[in-house]
Amino acid sequence: MRNRSILDEARQIDLAIELIRLGARLQVLESETSLSRERLLRLYKEVQGKSPPKGMLPFSADWFLTWQPTIHSSLFMGGYRHLIEHCKLDRIDALVRGYRLYLEQIGAFGLDCKLSLTRAWILIRYLESGLLRTTPCRACGGLFVTHAQDLHDDFVCGLCDVPSRAGKTQIAVATL
Ligand SMILES: [Zn+2]
Repeated sequence: MRNRSILDEARQIDLAIELIRLGARLQVLESETSLSRERLLRLYKEVQGKSPPKGMLPFSADWFLTWQPTIHSSLFMGGYRHLIEHCKLDRIDALVRGYRLYLEQIGAFGLDCKLSLTRAWILIRYLESGLLRTTPCRACGGLFVTHAQDLHDDFVCGLCDVPSRAGKTQIAVATL
């Protein structure tokens, strides 16, 4: 049993509650807090009123590269990196604040949430590990999530070159 101050434990509980409210899966909580699995399970049930979902996390890297998820992921990463680089937040605080920022932004645009907090957490890990990276669009200059191994000299993002299959969501997202 680790020896921890009450204040530190309170901070860990606050962080876990915030992550649970934002929709974090149990694996995220276990990775990002020092609370035991038993305590996290109890906390999750108290906050959400139900047990956490079981099963694998959505680990597919390809998901981030499909049209709408790329736009949502890139929007989130823009805020996250700003918080890390300019506000000097640590990773977990930047994840929480960056995710709130993302929710505010898509809310302002009237878009549905495509990127769950758990997926945002996985995205950060994939970018840190070099599986994915961000690439500037040659048309708008924005940074977008792409596969690390693809060639990107002539990359055009999904907002500047909207796929025709995008259909009626095209208008809503094109105002981003
Ligand atoms: Zn673009």
